[in-house]
Amino acid sequence: MANNNGTLTNAAGIPIASNEVSKTAGKYGPLLMEDYTLLEKMAHFNRERVPERVVHAVGAGAYGTFTVTDDITHLTKAKLFSEVGQETEVFARFSTVAKSKGGSDIYRDIRGFSVKFYTEDGNWDMVGNDTPIFFMRDPMKFMDFIRSQKEHPESNWRQDEMWWDFWSQVPESLHQVMWLMGDRGAPMGWRHLNGYGSHTFSFINAQEERIWVKFHFKTDQGIKNFTEEQWQKLQGIEPRWATKDLFNAIDEGNYPSWTMYIQTMTEEQAKNFQWNPFDLTKIWPHADYPLQKVGRFELNRNPENFFAEVEQAAFSPGNMVPGISWSPDRMLQARIMSYADAHRYRLGVNYDTIPVNKPHATEANTPYRDGSMRVDGNYGNRRNYHPTEYKYPTADQKAAPPAYGVEGMADRQELDEKDYADQAKMFYQILNDGEKDRLVHNISGSLGKCRDSIKQRQLGLFREVDEHFAERVKTAMSEVEPLKPEPKPASV
Ligand code: NDP
Repeated sequence: MANNNGTLTNAAGIPIASNEVSKTAGKYGPLLMEDYTLLEKMAHFNRERVPERVVHAVGAGAYGTFTVTDDITHLTKAKLFSEVGQETEVFARFSTVAKSKGGSDIYRDIRGFSVKFYTEDGNWDMVGNDTPIFFMRDPMKFMDFIRSQKEHPESNWRQDEMWWDFWSQVPESLHQVMWLMGDRGAPMGWRHLNGYGSHTFSFINAQEERIWVKFHFKTDQGIKNFTEEQWQKLQGIEPRWATKDLFNAIDEGNYPSWTMYIQTMTEEQAKNFQWNPFDLTKIWPHADYPLQKVGRFELNRNPENFFAEVEQAAFSPGNMVPGISWSPDRMLQARIMSYADAHRYRLGVNYDTIPVNKPHATEANTPYRDGSMRVDGNYGNRRNYHPTEYKYPTADQKAAPPAYGVEGMADRQELDEKDYADQAKMFYQILNDGEKDRLVHNISGSLGKCRDSIKQRQLGLFREVDEHFAERVKTAMSEVEPLKPEPKPASV
């Protein structure tokens, strides 16, 4: 039985006479142009989709609360950390990276881990991943990397050979590749993974002192992963496994939570750090830079409408509030531009006025006007230029982070460190025997499908991590059956 929920209207609020039957010239005759109800319905349907995200298209999200548990006011003046017990509303979105919308959400891939903190000083977007590192340290390679993970330009299927072709020629990817092919490359949904800010950021305290910082969010549900065989089977049965798992847990009141930690490094320590502290392919060892507990966020409210609140959610590493700032990390600097730019393209120039994206704990008061889908008051009769002798908001010099020094020549300068194997070795050493076995199994099953030149190049990198490990991969690859139908090698 239909559930009456008021009168159905068109977009102008005019009652609709029928939602089922179109208007025709005679019972068996053609449709009439004057059936505006039908025309509007079909025209709107044609425009229902916005462009999907180029990366991280498959995802899910929820609202929640962040609570400060430990005092860090000596490190940052960010208002959300003002006192122990203070609560801030958050919206988190989790995602896979490579697949297009409609793809499964439990295959082997990095996971996006983004949290929007609706603070009194505006929204802080912590746009992270489930790994503390990444495949590269220069954004010039980013587009090529993503294309290597997506569909072949000719066949339109993802093929392992494109991944290894790229990775084997970008040695700094080694650390992240080992991680991705290990147990944590196939997490059991969104609830059982850690989140990391990955980049180095900075904290600014009330004395305007800067300290470098890394963000960690450890799952309180415990780490759980799928084996290669489990996710391969399960994604065919339930391609929305992770999305359902998150939604159902929150729906049942079983709220997932993450404990937030930071690592800090003084500017003096940064100068003497063994590696480049702003290199996204490197972690800061816990033993030297211990985790300090800060707080905890819990997700406790599902969105009511996926498109409105998750598909239209837009996160940007440009959104830093006073007390938190960037670092010279090249990848971070590029993301400051590219994320907001992607949202302007995907959702329109006024994407930040969509309810999930606008500040919740304060009001935006911008110099921006007009543009498509300007559906708020557009600042009414306020002057749209500055300076003016009429009323206009004033800038606040106190919001500026302190200056930091730069040196050297303006030029294209490669980060030419030959240290790409250092931390890949450290990673290999923390694995137990079972984890090492599965790493060999996962790598050989994928690399084993590639042409010989690619295998040899990647094996050369694995030898720099551990000779025995590389030998095991080589032996295991000899037993791998090529996929049928065999993907064509990339065009040369
Ligand atoms: P530690 O021995 O102090 O810490 C190792 C960390 O690795 C732990 O935080 C643990 O996370 C995590 N870990 C354990 N097993 C795996 C796995 N199979 N895949 C991915 N991560 C795992 O190490 P260091 O700080 O000296 O770093 C050594 C290596 O540990 C690095 O090469 C890095 O790849 C990895 N690592 C380092 C992190 C860091 O920020 N320092 C963070 C995560 C990993 P948990 O406690 O949640 O189990």
